[in-house]
Amino acid sequence: MDELVIHKYGGTSVGSVERIQCVAEQIMRVQQEIENVVVVLSAMGGETDRLLGLAQAIDADCGGRELDALLATGERSSVALLSIALAKRGVAAISLSGRQAGIYADNSYNKARITRIEVQRIRRHLDRKQVVIVAGFQGIGEDGDVRTFGRGGSDTSAVALAVALEAKECCIYTDVDGVYTADPRIEPEASLLSRLSFEEMLEISSLGSKVLQIRAVEFASKYNMPLRVLSAFKPGQGTLICDLEGNDMETARISGVTYNRDEAQLTIIGVADQPGVAAHILQGVSDANIEVDMIVQNISEENKLASFTFTVHRRDYRKSMAILGNLAADWQARVIGNDHIVKVSVVGIGMRSHAGIASQMFAALAEKSINIHMISTSEIKISVVIDEQNLETAVRALHAAFRLDSEKPLMPAG
Ligand code: ADP
Ligand code: ASP
Ligand code: MG
Repeated sequence: MDELVIHKYGGTSVGSVERIQCVAEQIMRVQQEIENVVVVLSAMGGETDRLLGLAQAIDADCGGRELDALLATGERSSVALLSIALAKRGVAAISLSGRQAGIYADNSYNKARITRIEVQRIRRHLDRKQVVIVAGFQGIGEDGDVRTFGRGGSDTSAVALAVALEAKECCIYTDVDGVYTADPRIEPEASLLSRLSFEEMLEISSLGSKVLQIRAVEFASKYNMPLRVLSAFKPGQGTLICDLEGNDMETARISGVTYNRDEAQLTIIGVADQPGVAAHILQGVSDANIEVDMIVQNISEENKLASFTFTVHRRDYRKSMAILGNLAADWQARVIGNDHIVKVSVVGIGMRSHAGIASQMFAALAEKSINIHMISTSEIKISVVIDEQNLETAVRALHAAFRLDSEKPLMPAG
């Protein structure tokens, strides 16, 4: 097959008729150079939230089949609008829903996973010299009903299509000009990273940055599909995310600071220090379908009782408090909780070959009198839980401590 490109545009980039016209102009130019162009779109900016708001105004706990049926309409509108804009410019184009594009998903609603893509129909349109515009965020279950892929899921649609269609790379156009050393909305001094490894991007996504959906990065890493994040509004090379193994010598110690506001912390105090207690507590929580993130247990020397602390998504806070409350009543223990905490992390594969990153991180926070509630580490990241009110100060302090504002491109661009 001749050269094929996948260009994905996010919500802001197609957020108005004017912006859709701009995207149409860009696609028209690309199509003059490259024969096979597949475009993946998000819903117009704010549309998914609007639809979700409507459903929740009727039933705050709504979910399942009908919610997917509703949310999938956002992307169906944007693809049709872009197709109309291209037709107006004399460019042959066709919009396809996830189902029409042959994107199959497992049967779970609201956060389904892509299981396979049958590309014949897309190929047929490409052979007819049409630009193919695919609705992101959605696919079809084996039962024939629509499924959506979770917030930010259009990124994953794009990467999965790039893999299935054997594209050379997958371009993700968004409202920033690449991946930065920190969210540029919080740290104005943040600098653009020219390259990142899949591993680092996985951590950055999983630690709360929404610039790419984590599943998209997992998919890209599994199939070694290079991703390029770039601006939909201004020209540039953006950030290339690819396999950087073997380049450790050239990588910075820390490539970024991330944060996650969706956190809440719970502690059960005064439980027996004996086998099975931790399992029992976590079983109760996981039975309620609640995911636990960080876990810490402390034992008091005097009375041999333990306290057990963990974090959950903030939306699961009340439910988790109720579960722990029941356990505590049985065990004569006590429960405390805090849903005004956040997680701040530093990420970098260079950490592997540099000692002292943790102490440097803690010292930078101490200098700003920021108290650390919990710590967790992996080979390439260190995360701390702190009070929400310290979030911005912490991100900026860490950004400065690791000199990320003077970040040089990790490798020569291009
Ligand atoms: P899209 O609608 O194009 O999918 P998103 O809103 O999902 O865009 O993601 C882009 C946003 O991610 C940016 O506007 C930015 O505020 C945020 N972001 C968070 N962390 C970072 C980071 N490290 N680098 C770049 N952007 C980041
Ligand atoms: N429209 C969906 C969302 O807002 C999917 C996406 O934009 O990637 O999350
Ligand atoms: Mg997104």
